[in-house]
Amino acid sequence: MRPIGVFGGTFDPIHYGHLRSAFEMLQALRFDEVRFVPCGDPPHRGLTYASAEQRFALVRLAIDGQRGFVADDRELGRDGPSYTVDTLASLRAEFSERSLGLIVGMDAFLGLPGWHRWNEILDYAHIVVAHRPGWKAPDIGVLGDLIAERGTHRIDALHETTHGRLHIHAVTQLEIASTEIRDLVAAGRDPRFLMPDAVWDAIDELGLYAAEAAPTAAGTAPTAAGTAPTAAGAAATREN
Ligand code: ATP
Repeated sequence: MRPIGVFGGTFDPIHYGHLRSAFEMLQALRFDEVRFVPCGDPPHRGLTYASAEQRFALVRLAIDGQRGFVADDRELGRDGPSYTVDTLASLRAEFSERSLGLIVGMDAFLGLPGWHRWNEILDYAHIVVAHRPGWKAPDIGVLGDLIAERGTHRIDALHETTHGRLHIHAVTQLEIASTEIRDLVAAGRDPRFLMPDAVWDAIDELGLYAAEAAPTAAGTAPTAAGTAPTAAGAAATREN
């Protein structure tokens, strides 16, 4: 059976950069599906602008009708920080015989050694790095060693075993970031065409990311209007 792609992220909000990367992985790596797993409680970031439920709802709207895209809410009901290794263990328990491919951007991959129990991740899944043309993969240090030991150029290798390989794959890079979208909305500008219309319509309707909405402790609703925004302080450490 073909591998399942696992794409975790804060998705605050989801945008076309995420969607295009995931779609190219789905097709090029011959994944059966890509599961979008919004982070419940980001371990390092701590604050999100939209609640976990809202971010999950936006993911559902974004992927609606796309064959092979699945919204997975397993991190939403879990207590404590959402660690990727726990998510993969839970997926492994559910899909014991299937190959799993954890999809991460190169920026997220470079932070991998800081992730909780990061060296157990390959016991559960392959790691697939979405390579940004022009970004060099590390060839020294722990990640250089990991690529040397586990790296493979062969897509078939991701199908032949259920976990344990690392594959770097070039995808079209759209220079879009959730931070940029939040900043645009907070400035009263229109972020249309950076994400599916249905996502922007829902953001607009819910009043998410407006200037008066401060970041919230993950999992809670946005704070009341009138609270000073603290966007600068809530910059991005990737979820892990
Ligand atoms: P923020 O600006 O809030 O940090 P983000 O846009 O980087 O958010 P995340 O939800 O933090 O999005 O990222 C989830 C995953 O998607 C990470 O693995 C990240 O590397 C990847 N990613 C983020 N933006 C892009 C993009 N434009 N193209 C491809 N992958 C992306």
